[in-house]
Formats: sequence, C-alpha cells, structure tokens
Amino acid sequence: MVKLSDTFHIGNLEVAALSDGAPERALGGFFHGVDAAEWTRALGITDPETPVPFNFGSFLIRGGTRTVLIDTGYGTPAREMGMEGGGGLLDRIRELGVGLDEIDMIVHTHLHGDHVGWNLDADGAPTFPKAVFFVSRVEMDYWLGSEADANPMAAAARRAVSSLQASGRVATFDGEIAVTTGLTTVPTPGHTPGHTSLLLASQGEHLLIAGDAAHHPAHLEHHDWIPGVDLDPAESHRSRQKLAELAVEKDAIVTGGHFPILTLGKLERVESGYRWKTL
Ligand SMILES: [Zn+2]
Repeated sequence: MVKLSDTFHIGNLEVAALSDGAPERALGGFFHGVDAAEWTRALGITDPETPVPFNFGSFLIRGGTRTVLIDTGYGTPAREMGMEGGGGLLDRIRELGVGLDEIDMIVHTHLHGDHVGWNLDADGAPTFPKAVFFVSRVEMDYWLGSEADANPMAAAARRAVSSLQASGRVATFDGEIAVTTGLTTVPTPGHTPGHTSLLLASQGEHLLIAGDAAHHPAHLEHHDWIPGVDLDPAESHRSRQKLAELAVEKDAIVTGGHFPILTLGKLERVESGYRWKTL
C-alpha cells in the first residue's frame, strides 16, 4: 500500500507529509544532462521508462504560533488522472482532525499547477477560508506578467492566485524571511523564477523542504541533473548546491513534496560532493 500521510516531529513542531496523489511515474524528464545509464543506476532501475514511486505532496506544520500548509496539491486534475489518493489532500487534512478553517497560512514553493491545486475548489471558491497565501514576489510577478503568456502552466497559476490576490489574501515576500516563528524562506530559483524552499527550525532541529529544487533525493547528490521543466538550468543547478550546503550546515533533515511518503534524509559532504542518507 502506498502511504498517503505520515507524521513526524521537528523539535516541538508536528509535521504531516500529506499526499494529493501518489502515482508511479517514469522520471526521465527530470534528469537531463546525464546519461540514462547513470541516473537509472542511481534510482536502482535499468530501463529509463520504468515507473517509480512519485508523489504530489504538501506539508502541514502544527504546534507553533500558526498552523501552516506548504503547497496545496494538484487538485481536481489529480482526481481525474485516477492515481492512488488523487485529489485527496483535503481528506488527508481532515483525517488529522484539522478543519480547513484552522489553517492560518499557506506558503507556496512556487505556482505550478501541482502545488496550487486546492487554493480554490472546483467552483472557484477559496478552499481555506482564513488562510493568507505567502508567495515570492518574483514568482507572482512572473506568472501574472506578460512574460508567462506563452507558458503552458500559466493558466493554472493565474487561476489559483488571481482571485485570492484581488481579495487581499496573498502576501508577497522577497528573499529570505521568517514567515512565522521557526519557518524561513530559502530562495532557490531555477525551476521557476521565484521558486522557494523552506527551512523549519525548532529546539535545535531543522527540516529543509526542498520543493521542486529536488524531484528525487538523487537530485541532492547530482546538482547538475536538470529537470526538463526548469526555466533556468544554471540557476536550478546553483540552487541545488545552495540547498546541499545549507542542509549540511544545519544538519537538517531534508524532504520534498515529490518524494514518496515518507522520505526523510540527511546530506553529508564527501570527496565527490554530497551523499544522501535516508533516515
Ligand atoms: Zn512540482
């Protein structure tokens, strides 16, 4: 059985990894700039077309001054695609005994459709009635500006944030800020212009949520494997280096929304670069 929800602790904060769909997918599109033989070996497969476990995930953080949700899943498309747990994020939240009106803040890593899916329900009404949505200003400007007109992902991004912005519920930020006690934004551009990872700290423990700077733990070892969807490959490469350095500096547990639940690891510096160790 695929796990669609699991909970762990960082200091005195409770973090729930929640799935909005957990398909098996061939991941070749995420590993450009490398021979297929090399990345398949890292994933423990031989054929690049072999589907491996994937996830459309969010993280719910409780126990601090605010109840925070990182990203809002894929939404109705995940349900229509027919994957395991597809479109079930809201049910996963309710199963924890948390009402949608109890979520104070949503922080978006970026505005791709598989990260903003439940900002609105199928009728276009806000799903989280009290939440303020934190989005990088660069990210908002890109998707709402004319530069993104030709981007096939623009429609989903614009639908997800335009009405919320018009009603004053989007808060933009620049660079590295504490969005609430213990939760700091880490700019990691490349996948999208304002892509943001998150560093959670409590009682000396740290969690680094990579976002789509890493679609698979292998990305944290191989920074130059470039997802085909990344808008700026050079920035994407630099952002993975930055994440790896930060993970080692903070001795942080590392995870990502596209990692199967529950995938937690740490990075260590080795002669050739960085090594991922699953916890
Ligand atoms: Zn994604």
